[in-house]
Amino acid sequence: MTLVFVFGLIVGSFLNVCIYRLPLEESVAWPGSRCTSCGRALAWFENIPVVSWVVLRGRCRTCGASISWMYPVVEFVTGLLCVVIYRAHGWTPLLGVRLVFGCAMIVLFAIDFIHQILPNVITLPGIAIGFISSLFLPPGWTSSLIGLLVGGAFPFLVAEGYSRVRGKEGMGMGDLKMFAMVGAFLGWPLVWITLIMSTLLGIVIGGTALLVSRRGLGTRIPFGTFIAVAALVCALWEAPVLRAYDTAVGAYLRWAGLS
Ligand SMILES: [Zn+2]
Repeated sequence: MTLVFVFGLIVGSFLNVCIYRLPLEESVAWPGSRCTSCGRALAWFENIPVVSWVVLRGRCRTCGASISWMYPVVEFVTGLLCVVIYRAHGWTPLLGVRLVFGCAMIVLFAIDFIHQILPNVITLPGIAIGFISSLFLPPGWTSSLIGLLVGGAFPFLVAEGYSRVRGKEGMGMGDLKMFAMVGAFLGWPLVWITLIMSTLLGIVIGGTALLVSRRGLGTRIPFGTFIAVAALVCALWEAPVLRAYDTAVGAYLRWAGLS
């Protein structure tokens, strides 16, 4: 388990490179890690996940520029993600697929949080990889295809309705592609729950943030961060999430007198 966690930390430090470079359209493979402030190439001991950041107290040794706390957090979260996915799936092909999906969600979360964009270089191949892997693995290609369509089309209709009412765009195309990707990987019941969960998160957290910051409702909420959190919860705790959903729907139907 320790080994899986350490593997996750190393993967996490690669995700940091993706998070930093993808929005700048730089190569993620070359050159090696550098200080983003003075450009000096980092030595191996400055590149150890989490540890280096803590030892260097979040500063570059040469120029003293502060290094974002997001780096060690992304590494640590990726480490935890690997452990949870490994415990759920063991050494199966689904382990690899879910790792790819989880890592993509972390990268999309961070890039949307920082830049308010969801790059096509992640979401479009993500839709394809999710669907192709579902030809052989859970959730199966029919569920994956329905999920892809539900994820891509349903929010589109809601966003259309919202923009008619509010007169501006409620949800970007990036959000739709990200939902479609979640549907392709997890299948339709879970992308449906992801939709509901991320919307609730958006209303509660986004609404609170807007009220606190008092910047008014014009501020763009990085909705992709809520999609990422909801999708990760669905992917990591599939069975309990589905049970909770059934319970909630059952309770609602009884309350509404429909069953
Ligand atoms: Zn520096």
